[in-house]
Amino acid sequence: MFRDDTNQILKGLKQSPLRQFDQEVGQIPGIVKLTLGEPNFSTPAHIKMAAISAIAANESHYTPIAGLPELREAAANYYNQKFNLNYTAENTLVTVGATEGVSASFQALLQPGDSVIVPTPIYPLYLPLIKLQHATPILVDTSADDFVLTPERLQTVLDQHRQDHVKAIVLNAPSNPTGIAYTRSEMQALAAILKQEQLWVLSDEIYAELTYGQKHTSMGELLPEQTIVINGLSKSHAMTGWRLGFAFAPKDLMAEMLKAHQYMVTMPTTFVQYAAIEAMKHGQNDCAPMVKIYQRRRDYVREHLQQLGFEVARPNGAFYVFAKIPASFKGDSWEFARQLAYDQKVAVIAGAAFGPGGERYIRISYAASDEALAQACRGIAKLMQHTQQQ
Ligand code: PLP
Repeated sequence: MFRDDTNQILKGLKQSPLRQFDQEVGQIPGIVKLTLGEPNFSTPAHIKMAAISAIAANESHYTPIAGLPELREAAANYYNQKFNLNYTAENTLVTVGATEGVSASFQALLQPGDSVIVPTPIYPLYLPLIKLQHATPILVDTSADDFVLTPERLQTVLDQHRQDHVKAIVLNAPSNPTGIAYTRSEMQALAAILKQEQLWVLSDEIYAELTYGQKHTSMGELLPEQTIVINGLSKSHAMTGWRLGFAFAPKDLMAEMLKAHQYMVTMPTTFVQYAAIEAMKHGQNDCAPMVKIYQRRRDYVREHLQQLGFEVARPNGAFYVFAKIPASFKGDSWEFARQLAYDQKVAVIAGAAFGPGGERYIRISYAASDEALAQACRGIAKLMQHTQQQ
């Protein structure tokens, strides 16, 4: 028998509620799943060919810990050009998906007793990683401000927590789960406040290329000395399973992140790094056709939900609609998600899974086929009809 002396923080963490629910409802025959943030496009052919060529050329050895120099340089150029940044290869770490970049950042930054400001609702990755560093998340519910962290609320939170060793703030725009992309002026207003603070900004910009009707503004442009930018190929190039991301940070911090990265993963898979070189050098336009299709799907889902009485948060980024369940449904967001799954065979995620402010909402991923979305809208309409008849 094992002695019960395992990591108590880890023990206290639950499996991600998203994945748990996704697995649970995956057992329902014929279910339409709009649960995970998973592009339903194939990885562009030129990237797949680069991976195949790399394998054939025996690119199967260790690379430098920070990643192939050619990839670091190509990635810095790619994001510099797209988002007006000013990074070099030395500011660039090649990570195992965006997830590892977030993890390495927190390992480099946080000490026991530190706090991190986390606006909610938010993707449930950051809180467990903060807690694993023996640090404390300070949750800031943004629902009263239409899910945008306003400069006023940020200032209030900073002032309230002067004694709490606030080391960093997490920003995720475009946002999972709300689909909100911040405007340039919203980002500038936050940057102006953060510039006055001794604070790191962990800016998860994995959806930066998925914006509709506006261009993404990076915190790495506005506050380069204080920001770690997280990005990667999962969403922009439909490469979730390849596990390839990037972290961009000032050089001193990068040296610390590199150590965390080395002892966690050593490096991402070598032939995947070669495929990523191809994506960074020749895949600048790969995302554009996907964005067009996502935008059409976004419009479709938004219109249908609004007709059914849902209020929809401004969905101008990522591939999520965050919709407020009409008052005629009396249960909470998990009950809604369960009824929708079991009675109508449509799976969405309950807003409560994303922390304070998410209750009464559902998150719908429209990274799915037109057919699936039509079926989902019909299922939601039926559930609402039943609700009104009760
Ligand atoms: N960050 C956000 C905001 C996400 O929504 C996701 C995935 O859904 C990730 C990070 C994880 O990205 P990756 O698959 O590249 O690790």
